Amino acid sequence: MDYVAALDVGGTTMKGGFVARDGTIHDFQRRPTPRAQGPDQVIAAISAFIADLTRPRDGARPLAVGLAVPGLVTPTHAVFSAAFGWRDVPVAAFTDVDLPVALGHDVRSAGEAELAHGEGGTDVLYLPIGTGIAGAVVLSGALYGGAGGWAGQIGHIPVRPDGLPCGCGGRGCLAAYASGGAVASRCGVDGAAEVVRRAGEGDALAVRVWDEAVEALALGLATYTLLLDPGAVVIGGGVAQAGDALLVPLRERLAGLLAFRPAPPIRASRLGALAGLMGAGLLGWRALSGA
Ligand SMILES: [Zn+2]
Repeated sequence: MDYVAALDVGGTTMKGGFVARDGTIHDFQRRPTPRAQGPDQVIAAISAFIADLTRPRDGARPLAVGLAVPGLVTPTHAVFSAAFGWRDVPVAAFTDVDLPVALGHDVRSAGEAELAHGEGGTDVLYLPIGTGIAGAVVLSGALYGGAGGWAGQIGHIPVRPDGLPCGCGGRGCLAAYASGGAVASRCGVDGAAEVVRRAGEGDALAVRVWDEAVEALALGLATYTLLLDPGAVVIGGGVAQAGDALLVPLRERLAGLLAFRPAPPIRASRLGALAGLMGAGLLGWRALSGA
């Protein structure tokens, strides 16, 4: 069977595996992203993961490599990432493997996987909420990158003037209230799932932090909805695993903020946390076809 090696680098976890042409994932593996150890260690960890994935096994090797990373990404460089603190990292710094390699943006690649393998739709915001928040903007059936590749940075929409500081250098950003990383650190716990659990038990701090996260998301989505009129908002990433604890109050708040128009449907991604890896697979297949 033909396959490509795919690696989706998140702020907390790297997901790797082999992706067949139909999007099927084989030999799924995850490793921690050593973000706290600085940009060089993250790059070294990516490099080692790719080396392991592309090593010949039983006489077979992947045909190409697809690598999806966060931040501002061009086909040749990881230009900027607030999460990792890197600037202008060339593809060659990630791997010197003798295979075609394609570098892409994690969220946009995940959005492409949603278009190719998920529920689709011509005007959709695909919004993975993980360590950070960014969106893949689908307009008239195509992913929209913007003039400089910065489109979809919904996580840095200001939702509270002079609010909490954000990793991007700004204040009051959506991500400072609603990202999985922000929600967890505001409650002093390891992950957003624990915040949801505590909020469900009535823990006062967790209830307040979760409520502020939902409110911030509703404000960001109201802005997006009024500007671009999406047919649906599809939420992915780790925080989407909160399910109804997120979706039910978020639908209600968004509807409450939209005075004269209905709210778009909000649903959890069918591909879930694997959309990014499937998207990295699409990058790999594209590297092979030279497109
Ligand atoms: Zn920000």
